[in-house]
Amino acid sequence: MRPALLDPLFAPVTALDGVGPRLAALMANVAPGDVDGATMRIRDLLFVLPHTLIDRRERPGIAEAADGAVVTLTLRVDRHQPAPRGRGNVPYRVFAHDETGEIALTFFHAKGAWLERALPVGETVLVSGRMQWFNGRPSMVHPDHIVPAVEADALPPVEPVYPLTAGLSPKPLRKAVLQALERLPAMPEWLDAALLRARGLPGFAAALDTLHRPRAPDDLSPEGPAWRRLALDELLAGQLSLALVRARMRRLAGRALTGDGRLVAALRAALAYRLTGAQERATAEIAADLASPERMLRLLQGDVGSGKTVVALLAMARAAEAGAQAVVMAPTEILARQHHATIAPLAERAGLETVVLTGREKGRERAAVLAALASGAAHFAIGTHALFQDDVRFRDLGLIVVDEQHRFGVHQRLALSAKGRAPDMLVMTATPIPRTLVLSAFGDMDVSRLDEKPAGRRPVHTVTLPVERLEELVARIGRALDEGQKVYWICPLVEESAEVRVTSAEDRFAALQARFGAQVGLVHGRMAAREKDAAMAAFKAGDTRILVGTTVVEVGVDVPDATIIVIEHAERFGLAQLHQLRGRVGRGERPSSCVLLYKPPLGEVARRRLEVLRESDDGFRIAEEDLRLRGEGELLGTRQSGTPGFWIARLDAHGDLLEVARDDARLILARDPQLESARGEALRLLLYLFGRDAAIQLLRAG
Ligand code: ADP
Ligand code: MG
Repeated sequence: MRPALLDPLFAPVTALDGVGPRLAALMANVAPGDVDGATMRIRDLLFVLPHTLIDRRERPGIAEAADGAVVTLTLRVDRHQPAPRGRGNVPYRVFAHDETGEIALTFFHAKGAWLERALPVGETVLVSGRMQWFNGRPSMVHPDHIVPAVEADALPPVEPVYPLTAGLSPKPLRKAVLQALERLPAMPEWLDAALLRARGLPGFAAALDTLHRPRAPDDLSPEGPAWRRLALDELLAGQLSLALVRARMRRLAGRALTGDGRLVAALRAALAYRLTGAQERATAEIAADLASPERMLRLLQGDVGSGKTVVALLAMARAAEAGAQAVVMAPTEILARQHHATIAPLAERAGLETVVLTGREKGRERAAVLAALASGAAHFAIGTHALFQDDVRFRDLGLIVVDEQHRFGVHQRLALSAKGRAPDMLVMTATPIPRTLVLSAFGDMDVSRLDEKPAGRRPVHTVTLPVERLEELVARIGRALDEGQKVYWICPLVEESAEVRVTSAEDRFAALQARFGAQVGLVHGRMAAREKDAAMAAFKAGDTRILVGTTVVEVGVDVPDATIIVIEHAERFGLAQLHQLRGRVGRGERPSSCVLLYKPPLGEVARRRLEVLRESDDGFRIAEEDLRLRGEGELLGTRQSGTPGFWIARLDAHGDLLEVARDDARLILARDPQLESARGEALRLLLYLFGRDAAIQLLRAG
């Protein structure tokens, strides 16, 4: 149960004075977590951080105050000019002056009595707000603050500016935030005192206070101590919860998968090539994990074309030697079938049976697959989401390989785990995830990296081309076809949409077919699975030589003799995705090229993306650049899958703290695995504050 100490922070925002359901709903729009008006708590409000501030100390005098600037003026009030009776659209004006000039303070729908009290003629007042100059005359419409000069202290010297959404005005938000700060209970420090000192970080409450009551613009900088403190808190909460999950997985004793090496040797002998050094290294790392009684949770990371599949296959053979079954989860049907096509014949050479299971296997066919898995007659299963279904049972599932992991949710991986006895898990991704992201998404996961491409690969020559030069390109493609080359032609959308004119794959297919006839094939997401397979197979076999498609060919598809890829509307794709697509070519002996067709004019980010791609073939560099250009959520695909990101931490500004948090989490659990010490108790508060309390349940479950 949540410690009672935190109750004030977990009360609904509507418990604050002046906050009703309507205001709560507006606040929820700017709150970082996934909340609405009904679920928004005071804690969520405190995590709405201001982005800039208004400096009320700016006091230039009327004549020097620039149009649009927020200034504070010391004024002597001269006269009131109420709106004429019955003319509600004419403003109430109050004229006042300082040594430098005269100004009109302007009020619409004003209450005269209130203005007479606030701005008495002959008195000196401080007025703060935005200057407007019109035809050489200064005015200020609805000043933010009016205070008598004798009460100058009542004017806040600087005021934070919060992100606003339509209908939410700054004053009630400000009032609510200040009340929320009041409710912050005194909590014990959960961060290490030495660490705080070394990094010059304030306490949690002090950090919130600085951010909500800033005194200088620097107070609000993400690189400043206050923000960094909260970022470190959030990262530590994340790392700690991941470490707890991991510790629990490990306690659910794994099993040692070892064998005599016979099947692995048979598979190696069946390969037409030698493994790269990186593949050998990864294979050894994985074999060691499999042999250990702890559960494996390893990420196999390698750029497109680095040869992950065979590494996975060798691991699967190792599991088979130990008498266990292995599955490969693929994100799409095409990929599942391709893996099956690669793996099944090799496995067969080692006497191993492979089945495939996707949404397409039905009736008797499906029943036969299920029977083979349940009896153990099938050693390997390759499939899609269909593998999660309840009636899919294994005789003894020992290894799960997940391909292109970022498309699966955590719960789906767990569902699959439940089908075996503490199966080992190998996660393959071709999206080169920068280390900081691996850490934030998976915690201290073991990583094997294929940082070397198979010998003989040539870099892909990459060019950008404005769409106006399409004809020229088509002529060149024609010559390439005459030489027997194969071409991918990628289009962003399936159909012409009303708002944006994007040439669809179908239109492009029609146009290219008119020119090149039956050599042109088409594959897109709306086609039936069988049609897709047929299109891919025809292209692979060379029956078609241009394959027009959407991004279904993005991931993993392997046609080694394809040498040209054209990506239409390249400006609409993300950098990582473009790199993935480009990785479809450059897999064979012949030089390959990638043509990025774009529609001018390019925006700044799009231009930069295409440039990076032209300059670099290094997936890691590209991923780092992508991170900078797009923000981390999209790269991991978390936005689509709804994995919660961060509320406060930003990996661009706080990436260095991730390692600190990781090391600290590791140290904490080494000393106090159940979080029972005084600091452990404080850390439990932290987990609740950042919504990571699910991890606390794991502690109790032991
Ligand atoms: P990815 O890492 O992108 O999934 P794949 O596993 O699909 O890469 O491998 C890409 C291609 O490289 C396949 O055709 C595969 O047979 C081939 N390949 C893998 N390892 C080697 C190697 N060591 N030498 C030569 N070719 C290899
Ligand atoms: Mg692959």
